[in-house]
Amino acid sequence: MENKMPLLFSPKAWICAIFDHRFTVSQKITDHIKEYKCTRCGEEMTDTAQGFLAKLTPKFRETNAYIAKIHQRRCAKKLFSSKRFSKAS
Ligand SMILES: [Zn+2]
Repeated sequence: MENKMPLLFSPKAWICAIFDHRFTVSQKITDHIKEYKCTRCGEEMTDTAQGFLAKLTPKFRETNAYIAKIHQRRCAKKLFSSKRFSKAS
């Protein structure tokens, strides 16, 4: 009887395990928070608000989408208020 070992890791993931991941920025959330994707195995990581790198879980993805939304709104507001301020003075 053939006893096949379950394939736990893909060969690409093995390369990453030995040589480390090759991350590229997949999405910029803010100036300080970015999402990264490994070009070899597709593993995704993200910067967290605490300043460390974490695996990009659905929860982090959700949080990042929320942060991006707030960030965009804040930038728009800043632009708007500075315009108003210069007019008022
Ligand atoms: Zn990888």
